[in-house]
Amino acid sequence: MNRNDFPILDQQINGQPLVYFDNAATTQKPEVVIQALADYYRSINSNIHRGVHYLSQKATQEFEIARQTIQHFINAPSHQEVIFTRGTTESINLIASSFGHTFLHENDEVLISEMEHHANIVPWQMICDEKKAKLVVAAFDETGTLDMNDFQQKLSPKTKIVAISHVSNTLGTINPIKQIIELAHAQGTPVMIDGAQAVSHLKVDVQDLDCDFYCFSGHKMYAPMGIGVMYGKAQWLNAMPPYQGGGEMIKNVTFEKTTYNELPFKFEAGTPAVGDVIGLKTAINYINSIGIENIAQCENELLQYATQQLQNIDGVTIIGTAEHKTSIISFIMKDIHHYDAGFIIDKMGVAVRTGHHCTQPIMDKLKITGTIRASFAFYNTREEIDQLVRAIFKTKEMLS
Ligand code: PMP
Repeated sequence: MNRNDFPILDQQINGQPLVYFDNAATTQKPEVVIQALADYYRSINSNIHRGVHYLSQKATQEFEIARQTIQHFINAPSHQEVIFTRGTTESINLIASSFGHTFLHENDEVLISEMEHHANIVPWQMICDEKKAKLVVAAFDETGTLDMNDFQQKLSPKTKIVAISHVSNTLGTINPIKQIIELAHAQGTPVMIDGAQAVSHLKVDVQDLDCDFYCFSGHKMYAPMGIGVMYGKAQWLNAMPPYQGGGEMIKNVTFEKTTYNELPFKFEAGTPAVGDVIGLKTAINYINSIGIENIAQCENELLQYATQQLQNIDGVTIIGTAEHKTSIISFIMKDIHHYDAGFIIDKMGVAVRTGHHCTQPIMDKLKITGTIRASFAFYNTREEIDQLVRAIFKTKEMLS
């Protein structure tokens, strides 16, 4: 499906046609996105917002159109609630720092889950340390499904924010975030969603979810690296201090006192990645042209097929078998180190990721050192999964 839109896929690696199964780490970029970046630098590159000259105005206009495209993509009520960042990591750091400095106090709690990416653990740990608050962690069960009883028990009046992933990058689990948000809101606690692994697979509607914050990265949704989004409800963003100081985020500066700009600029200090923002807009238009439902259906079929194939291989154990998953399949191989397996699989032209996937606490809980992870995008095929299966058999043959 639309595979020819991705020029990078048309190449041989180690003498084999490239099979790219590392989409959870970053997706490949369609020609339209590559072209949009080149066009930006060829024809309208200019610094935005402060220029009266033609190019600056044109670049500003394109930048703000992109913001509106993103607003509509996630159904945010206002473009002022769409803040550009470098990616999910920066979005979460922004919230942990800015929200944390304002609303976290000694003995307060931040509730996360055991399946979080380090990007949704460490920033909260840092602010909790500073504020003498406590990081509380809800468990997942043997299938990789969030234990909602444990979550409910740990959600307490002390919980000042819930920060949880929409989809686990290691297990593929889709968390019941709507239910989580309802439970937290019932006691007045805001919820931040790490959507890094969700936006390119699932329809995200921040008004329907009623989440307070939603974070994601462009590069995991066919857009350039180095650009991401932090959506936040205006009521929170207006009550939070700026994350960084500098140009653009100010209204007026004197040596005695600075007043801050309105949303969204209050959180966008310095020159933004204008070309990448335009690339993100182009990627979203590209996704819309295919239809996120069609993408989801295609990826789901690939997941089902891969699951059937892998679960029948002797010595292969799938890690993460929740009922609701996106197209991520993590597995381990009996008596074979994940790194060695990844090495041989790569030699057979298949790009998979090995290791802890920035989720060391998941590995500790499961008492493993890492997994081999294949993650699919809609441009992957069943034939490519067959190539992975052949590579797994080869690995067994060579290393068992
Ligand atoms: N959260 C999750 C669930 C992720 O998968 C990732 C990326 N692996 C991140 C956060 C961090 O994203 P980025 O590196 O793009 O900031």
